[in-house]
Amino acid sequence: MLVDTHCHFDIIAEKFGLSIELDDIIQFSHEIMRACAKHQVTTCITVGTDAQSSELAVAIAQSCPSVFCSVGLHPSDCTSTWQHEVKKISHLLEKHNPSASRTGPIVAVGEIGLDFYHPGFNRQAQLEACTTQIELALKHNLPVIIHTRSATDETLALLNKYRHETGFRGVVHCFSDTPEIAREVINLGFYIGISGAITYPKNETLRQVVRAVGLDHILLETDAPFLPPQIIRGKPNHPQYIATIAEFLVGILSEQASPESAPEQALKPVTFELVAEKTTRNAHTLFGLQKVF
Ligand SMILES: [Zn+2]
Repeated sequence: MLVDTHCHFDIIAEKFGLSIELDDIIQFSHEIMRACAKHQVTTCITVGTDAQSSELAVAIAQSCPSVFCSVGLHPSDCTSTWQHEVKKISHLLEKHNPSASRTGPIVAVGEIGLDFYHPGFNRQAQLEACTTQIELALKHNLPVIIHTRSATDETLALLNKYRHETGFRGVVHCFSDTPEIAREVINLGFYIGISGAITYPKNETLRQVVRAVGLDHILLETDAPFLPPQIIRGKPNHPQYIATIAEFLVGILSEQASPESAPEQALKPVTFELVAEKTTRNAHTLFGLQKVF
């Protein structure tokens, strides 16, 4: 049993040339889950990137028993209308998660964060949008899904401001920094999201991260349709490839333990079952992942 903690069903549909009409996308979401089941992926979290995709994510999660969703405004979508977008996202939270009971379709606020990679970004708008949405997550007792690119220091500074707030928790998704930064993130009580990027031949740094932090702080994610693992590089990614990432982790963690390895790896043989069990437990701990309608 595996969980894809971060993918985008609506963008997968687009990549496969489907319309994002609600009925079509719900039917397609069932197809995605049928394909996932063949690869032991039983649960997915489809992640919103703006108000419209968040609304769609909620509709998908309401229709597919093993799909959950998050709602949020991605930093790269922080345009001059960001306040309007965040207001709509806030309404979705009020409507679907009013009592912070964690039994509805929405299991997180995200993806939110800072992205200073592409030229022309609005730093101030990104900081304000991220701050506002962290506060929404706290209000609704939900974890945050953090996207950060070319903004490590600023992201850590922002997360540090909230570290003592009750219920503040989350994941840095598609982690792409050093083992030292990974430790800082873990010290904040956050998880590290490991994607198919770990299978890329040049990505030794990410493999070092996994060896250093061990399975207790890792969540698996595809970010589908983005970041296809090496075996399908150049094609759209799919949540079923969580199994490929899990297998890859078995290989990394089974190699001879290095001095910086987390202690449990030296003791226990790392099997596919162990990777599945631990990362699934981590996903349940962070996101709850139960629906009562
Ligand atoms: Zn994403």
